[in-house]
Amino acid sequence: MAASKFPLNSFCGAANSGIDTKWLAVLVIIVSLAVFAIALIVSMLDVRTNRLSNSLDDANNELIKLALHDNLTRLPNRVLLSDRLEQAIHRAQRNHSEFAVLFLDLDGFKAINDMHGHHVGDLLLKEVSHRLLVSKREGDTAARLGGDEFVVLLEPSTPGISAAFAQRLIDTIEQPYEASNNFLQISTSVGIAIYPQDGQTEHELMINADAAMYHAKKQGRNGYCFFEHGMNADVHLQMQMQQNLRQAVDRNELVLHYQPKVIAPNGPMTGMEALLRWQSPDYGFLSPDRFLPLAESSGLIVPIGNWVINEACRQMRVWYDQGHRDWTMAVNLSAVQLEHDSLVEVVRSALTQHSLAPSHLVLEITESTAMRDAEASLKVLNELSALGVSISIDDFGTGYSSLLYLKRLPANELKIDRGFITELAQGNDDEAIIQAIIALGKTLGMRIVAEGVETLGQQELLTRLGCNTLQGYLLARPAAPDALLETITLLAERAEPTLVTT
Ligand code: C2E
Ligand code: MG
Ligand code: MG
Repeated sequence: MAASKFPLNSFCGAANSGIDTKWLAVLVIIVSLAVFAIALIVSMLDVRTNRLSNSLDDANNELIKLALHDNLTRLPNRVLLSDRLEQAIHRAQRNHSEFAVLFLDLDGFKAINDMHGHHVGDLLLKEVSHRLLVSKREGDTAARLGGDEFVVLLEPSTPGISAAFAQRLIDTIEQPYEASNNFLQISTSVGIAIYPQDGQTEHELMINADAAMYHAKKQGRNGYCFFEHGMNADVHLQMQMQQNLRQAVDRNELVLHYQPKVIAPNGPMTGMEALLRWQSPDYGFLSPDRFLPLAESSGLIVPIGNWVINEACRQMRVWYDQGHRDWTMAVNLSAVQLEHDSLVEVVRSALTQHSLAPSHLVLEITESTAMRDAEASLKVLNELSALGVSISIDDFGTGYSSLLYLKRLPANELKIDRGFITELAQGNDDEAIIQAIIALGKTLGMRIVAEGVETLGQQELLTRLGCNTLQGYLLARPAAPDALLETITLLAERAEPTLVTT
């Protein structure tokens, strides 16, 4: 204003015909207020957008967390662990440092789950996770792979630090738990793999830590084990074997051998027991103890067992047609088969397919199999028994059956475990045990079979003690049907003079 100069006689043209100053003031006020209002609205909108984007972020983070964490325990899951492992490998490469992967598997968790239910199992897993979290250092990762398997990534770490940590974990996990008024105890086995010497990649480190964990289990559980080269050879071999076993049924590599059961002491024969063999192009001729555990742990025992039932019935039909009208065919069953819903139907349809009366089939279950889930087993065994199939209790004397349970089992036959027979010499404890088993079995109305009879002495004594049926190398070794022709004739001939009926 100071800089402006107005020459004399100059006048403002707008003063009379221009905007009225009053209106100008009003206009300026209105426009300014409008500008303020718009600014206010824009800033309010801005806050809302911000809030919206924040909550979107939150939801996103929650989703990521869900995808990367285990639902039950909230520990990092396999995906996040894999990422952390990858980062750990990068860091260790850069810094030329070491880190450790600890693979944990609880000992006997399945038993707790079976006995107390999943709810208690879940509570236990949560508490174990909590103990892992409080035991580890700030930057370490404790993850759950699923089931009762956990991994702790110790970074950085040396063998010494890892061993001390593993021991601390074992001691912590071993402390008692309280879950829904149950006091529980559980132990854990730990396998340790150290980067870089025990594996260069994430995959190698994990399977080697796993192999070391298996080793810890084999050494009696509740301990830790460092990975050593050679340990995973076992794992690879097992995986390979499982693959091959999967194809064995289709490739006709499974065969049944049969071992006669004879009336004590010498015959005649009452039937056969089917014993599974695997004629593998890769591993040679394998007896069941070489591959049954694998078949059971992988669930392959169900299709394999179904094949056994069918094949044994087929062979029984062949022998029946050859005139052996009163023989029975015994088939061994695993616990997994007994727990599988289809068993009764599989048995029924095998009998129908080969037009066999159910009385020709005996199903052998070991005492411990029958005890595993006593009530469920009882139900299935009752159904099978109602079908007309006989039930035999195999390897009797090795489990810890309760007499009450035994009484409820619809079993017709007791097979005394080979262990007692092997040691059998007159006058020792085994004789007393066998006498007791025979007395017990007879009271329950069961037929008594002794398996693993190898000597004349055993044969004589068992007959005298009252065993009805004998089975063992002395009488006949298990063999393929063709190889048994001679044995069958021989047993029939031998039977005549010393025929004992019980
Ligand atoms: P198990 O049912 O108790 O069968 C008796 C085992 O003792 C057989 O071994 C037989 O060959 C062997 N044996 C028989 N007599 C004698 C003898 O005088 N002396 C000796 N030292 N041994 C004798 P194998 O064939 O190796 O079968 C082992 C176990 O595998 C069987 O024990 C049975 O529990 C299981 N098993 C066999 N076949 C099958 C199957 O098809 N399915 C299932 N689930 N298990 C099977
Ligand atoms: Mg058997
Ligand atoms: Mg047996």
